Amino acid sequence: MYRKALWTPLQSSRVIFHRFASQISSSNKSIQSVSPKTRSIIEREERYGAHNYHPLPVVIEKGSGVYVWDVDGKKYFDFLSAYSAVNQGHCHPKIVECVKKQAETVTLTSRAFYNNILGEFEKYACELFGYDKLLPMNTGVEGGETAIKLARKWAYNVKRVGRDQAIVLFAHGNFWGRTLAAVSSSTDPLCYEGFGPYMPNFQIIPYNDLKALDEACSDHRVCAFMVEPIQGEAGVSMPDDGYLKGVREICTKRNVLWIGDEIQTGLGRTGKMLACDHENVKPDILILGKALAGGFYPVSAVLSNNDLMSQFKPGTHGSTFGGNPMGKVGANVALTSLKVLVEEGMIENAEKMGQILRERLNQIPKDVIKIVRGKGLLNAVVIDSKHDAWEFCLRLRDNGVLAKPTHGDKIRFAPPLCITKEQTLECCEIISNVAKSFK
Ligand SMILES: *Cc1c(COP(=O)(O)O)cnc(C)c1O
Repeated sequence: MYRKALWTPLQSSRVIFHRFASQISSSNKSIQSVSPKTRSIIEREERYGAHNYHPLPVVIEKGSGVYVWDVDGKKYFDFLSAYSAVNQGHCHPKIVECVKKQAETVTLTSRAFYNNILGEFEKYACELFGYDKLLPMNTGVEGGETAIKLARKWAYNVKRVGRDQAIVLFAHGNFWGRTLAAVSSSTDPLCYEGFGPYMPNFQIIPYNDLKALDEACSDHRVCAFMVEPIQGEAGVSMPDDGYLKGVREICTKRNVLWIGDEIQTGLGRTGKMLACDHENVKPDILILGKALAGGFYPVSAVLSNNDLMSQFKPGTHGSTFGGNPMGKVGANVALTSLKVLVEEGMIENAEKMGQILRERLNQIPKDVIKIVRGKGLLNAVVIDSKHDAWEFCLRLRDNGVLAKPTHGDKIRFAPPLCITKEQTLECCEIISNVAKSFK
């Protein structure tokens, strides 16, 4: 009920559909240029799989660290890292070992019983991130749903909002997954169009606009503001310095919960453990996912203080696999994945390599790559409208770097956090040569 009235209509859906159509035609062309083996695998998937994705025409068979190999044995740098789910690098040996061992021991216990790993993971994560309690789920979007449910309970039990009146605020350009609640807060027509009716009492405010947040929060019914510190899917859209501090102050002043969606920005991706650490602020509810289990397993988590989390009573929330997470495997994999990030210096490395990457990319003449932005190893470039980002990614692929456009003209550069300086420089050289090839 709020959504239509309140967001600023930036792009018409027609622009987006037109871009999507042009990507599809260029992909059909590019399928002609791949090996017969690759082509037949792609055609099989196109034939039997739902077309809810539009993959770059490359078929991956193997991965290790920053590299992946296709079915023809060609090696690539992975500059997407499965949307930041493999921050630790592909098939990290310590996590592989943990998965193997746990798979032979016990895989699923459900939350009907205790298991000997979950508590160890919860303790480690709570101490690492500075929260009292952790609630484990599976996918990121379930983490988001959990956070919103928690905020609503708090609204009714603590803030005393009238029954079914609670409002949750989201930022324009947000992305937090594909459930009905998530698409109800989306401002991207591709995500929401044709899936109504939408969740009521979701309100959208502009991103990076503290005044708008403050005004919206003056309504007593507002219980939470859910926001990404950097909007990943929107194309690494970065707010001004001080935005997160401002969000913290306003939410505290107005008695509104700040839900920090760090599913993509967290776990070292931006050069700090959490992107919020860049401004030394802490959301009331923190959502983690993606790299939380190093790409082996879907594990997400919601963290908060004791008072808040106590809103959940037995029977009010859960998940067969998630609540647990995945018997011991999930918890154990998540624990190991967190330790790998911390103990192998990947977070500091992300900061250093990110600086090198942006510095080099900024030296490339701006006629093809118009804008370079990012923090740590969460980066994006914007391709000038005279050129095609999809074609840019195809040429990157041909030269051994895998990346994918988002929202038409943006390409995310987000390699695993174990990338070395040499590898970073090599990739910059490749990207620079691809840019030159457009002249
Ligand atoms: C990917 C993502 C999600 C959703 O995670 P899924 O595991 O795909 O459900 C939520 N929030 C952000 C910021 C994300 O990048």
